[in-house]
Amino acid sequence: MKTYNGASSSKLPNTGTSIFAVMSGLANEVGAINLSQGFPNFPVSEKLIELVHHYMKEGMNQYAPMQGVLTLREAIAAKVQDTYGIAYDPINEINITAGATEAIYAVIAAMIRPADEVIVIEPAYDSYAPAVELNGGIVRYSSLMVPEYSVNWAEVRSLISSRTRLIIINSPHNPTGSVLGSADLAELDKITRGTDIVIMSDEVYEHLIYDGLRHESICWYPSLVSRSFVIGSFGKTFHATGWKTGFVMAPSNLMTEFRKAHQFIVFAGNTPMQYAMAEYLRDKENYIHLPVFYQQKRDFFANLVRASRFNIIPSYGTYFQLLDYSRISDETEMDFAIRLTKEFGIASVPVSPFYHEKEDHRVLRFCFAKTEETLEKAAAILCRI
Ligand code: PMP
Repeated sequence: MKTYNGASSSKLPNTGTSIFAVMSGLANEVGAINLSQGFPNFPVSEKLIELVHHYMKEGMNQYAPMQGVLTLREAIAAKVQDTYGIAYDPINEINITAGATEAIYAVIAAMIRPADEVIVIEPAYDSYAPAVELNGGIVRYSSLMVPEYSVNWAEVRSLISSRTRLIIINSPHNPTGSVLGSADLAELDKITRGTDIVIMSDEVYEHLIYDGLRHESICWYPSLVSRSFVIGSFGKTFHATGWKTGFVMAPSNLMTEFRKAHQFIVFAGNTPMQYAMAEYLRDKENYIHLPVFYQQKRDFFANLVRASRFNIIPSYGTYFQLLDYSRISDETEMDFAIRLTKEFGIASVPVSPFYHEKEDHRVLRFCFAKTEETLEKAAAILCRI
């Protein structure tokens, strides 16, 4: 095929294929146990699948409203009121999205003008920076402080300028499993007070938090709520990452702007899933056991890996476990992750691609949203390395 010359002026010259796709592709190619991409390898609830069937058969197969199916927005409002004690208006302040990824993109597309600055805290989920750049914005990076992966608020504050439009936070945090505490939210409040800065809080792992910790949602803090987009994902909460259904909540003036972008990105999410999730979400039993369920998996995996030469970095949330391999090898994370996949048959994700300058701390991320059988096999391999 004749090539097109205009591709040399890429809008994202430094962006390749997402590391998740790369490592999952390699795992499939060589038949490795795949603890790389973050998705469960156990089934979605039968009840939820039956509900989707039911609504498909009922004929709920055409476009959903642009804002999302109202019963789902109402169910989210009720759940958020019950969980965090705050009332979001389902009509004007909640929108259903095609996964959290679309929510993130639409918030950025709606908020960011050319030369606006966005503060991103690294290592960071890989969709934030490209979304900012595609919209002409400039990313200002702050690094989490190792080994705890805590936010360096003095650094974040020093990055704020008259051009700062958005600060992105993510707790529980992918890829590190660290979580923000109330003192972090207080700092965020302090540094944004009296400014027009908007916050995007990626809370897709809100229910995956362990050791009895409280998820420090923006929702707990009224002064932050007024300037924030809060993003969630049913992919994480209902073990259904492939259904690509998420949501965003924000005060109505921010939501009005969000909808201007969302309607021309996807217009609406898929319809039968939304009806099914609305019904499923009404029963608390369907999500309140998640911390215990995943904490058992975290502990099961970590206890087995303790016998290995990897060093376990505490994971307080998400379904990710970081393992430090500095006692085993000097290889870069990328090289080591590829070698583990090809030679040992276990796929993980290097953390360096989550940094814009590929900072390398000799740590790999393993997803423990897997059956005990898979985790046992994975740990047995890790203990041989
Ligand atoms: N944010 C974070 C931090 C994530 O880990 C993910 C999923 N890996 C997303 C957003 C995207 O969620 P979704 O699959 O609902 O698009």
